[in-house]
Amino acid sequence: MSNENTSYTQLRKLMREAGTLGSVNALLAWDQETYMPSGGADARAEQRSMIATMVHERRTSARVGELIVACEHDASLPEIERSNVREMRRDYDLLTKLPASLVGEIASTATKAQEAWKDAREKSDFATFRPWLEKMMELARQKASCYGTPAGGEPYDALLEEYEPGARAAELQQVFTPLASELSALIAKIGASGKTDRLAIKPPSIDASKQHAFGQFLLKSMGFDLNAGRLDTTAHPFCEGLGPGDTRLTTRYREDEFGGAMYGTLHEMGHGLYEQGLPKLERYGEPLGEAISLGIHESQSRMWENLVGRSRAFWTWAQPHASKTMSAWFAAQSVDALYSMSNVVKPSFIRVEADEATYNLHILLRFTLERALLKGDLSVAELPGAWNSMFEKLFGLRVPDDRRGCLQDVHWSCALIGYFPTYSLGNLYAAQFFETARAAMPDLDERFARGDFAPLLGWLCTNIHQHGRRYRAGELCERVTGKKLDSGALLRYLKGKAAEVYGV
Ligand code: ZN
Repeated sequence: MSNENTSYTQLRKLMREAGTLGSVNALLAWDQETYMPSGGADARAEQRSMIATMVHERRTSARVGELIVACEHDASLPEIERSNVREMRRDYDLLTKLPASLVGEIASTATKAQEAWKDAREKSDFATFRPWLEKMMELARQKASCYGTPAGGEPYDALLEEYEPGARAAELQQVFTPLASELSALIAKIGASGKTDRLAIKPPSIDASKQHAFGQFLLKSMGFDLNAGRLDTTAHPFCEGLGPGDTRLTTRYREDEFGGAMYGTLHEMGHGLYEQGLPKLERYGEPLGEAISLGIHESQSRMWENLVGRSRAFWTWAQPHASKTMSAWFAAQSVDALYSMSNVVKPSFIRVEADEATYNLHILLRFTLERALLKGDLSVAELPGAWNSMFEKLFGLRVPDDRRGCLQDVHWSCALIGYFPTYSLGNLYAAQFFETARAAMPDLDERFARGDFAPLLGWLCTNIHQHGRRYRAGELCERVTGKKLDSGALLRYLKGKAAEVYGV
């Protein structure tokens, strides 16, 4: 193993080089979203595409392919290193199975489809977007057939591989369907309580600079290492793990709505804590130094945003600090009022504005429809009708126009078919991990109320972050929680909150 010339050492070295080159591109992307003047856009596109090509060439070289084969035959590798090789194989196959011509066609069609989508959404005119969506679906089918359908699976599974390795559509459906029917019933009960308007109190307008100072305070107090990361402002918030010791977070501020920035910051912080907890120093560029999947990444962001940040214990601790840094208004509210305000449940048409409970219904709807579209069970022409009738069944609301219906999301126009389920997987994994953490540390709430978040972060590092991609998501879930992913923990959590906040 320590032999400098083994195939494995050579492979690791090549992976680190490709990773390092990739991080240069990530830095260029971060700069583009934060500080780059708009005049730099064309040159930046050229820089980024050049580096992306170099990274792709390195990761798909014949040499890398040979070294992977050699390592697969090396029986002396310990189990943990074999898992590293297994994931390198998976990445290599995904990157080499698509012909360059198809990659190019998807990219250029997506660029035009996005323009058509923006226009169609603005005018709420599905007919002009329809041919583009038909093309994108056809290209998705071609992509799925290049990847190959896993044994016993369906083409949708092949697309899932890009975002959630090892996930299967039929298994997801088995988790999502019971979740949706219980959630629909819960949301109807909450609506019938008639309390929503009273609980949704309106905070005053707060300067962006004060919101930013409070965001920095939260990051520092909750365990994000500001010597190894920073927080900046963008139009679309994100987290970018640039490499060992450098994790960038961004958020956006609206003075009349502090919650958007505060919960957005906590969300990106959750992604950032995961990035900071990965063993990048030793493993940069290798699967063992990377996040498992989008679903697991999202579980970390949603845990800190929702399960921690929307808890009564969080507000018990945060209230005096919010009052000191942002506005005396916070001190004038009861902790109960702040807790309720952060947990209002109200069905609405737009996914990105949805609360914790209704959010998963938005995902079930998209997952069901895109799966049927890909299979050919549903034609693109039938999409608006299918969307509206399913929406009414799930939410009890009639969709007024396609702008607030099937035209609202960018994903289908930019070839992200199979991506939506990872959002709900994030909520489900977050709840199941959190329930397990709470059972292991029954005083977690008292700790949060004192501003002590270290035990939770330590637990997440030990059980999830430090492993990188050693385990697949489903396997990790079973190892950590003792059972397969199911909707039980999320439903217990949401029902418990509805009982406290709404008394239903
Ligand atoms: Zn996220």
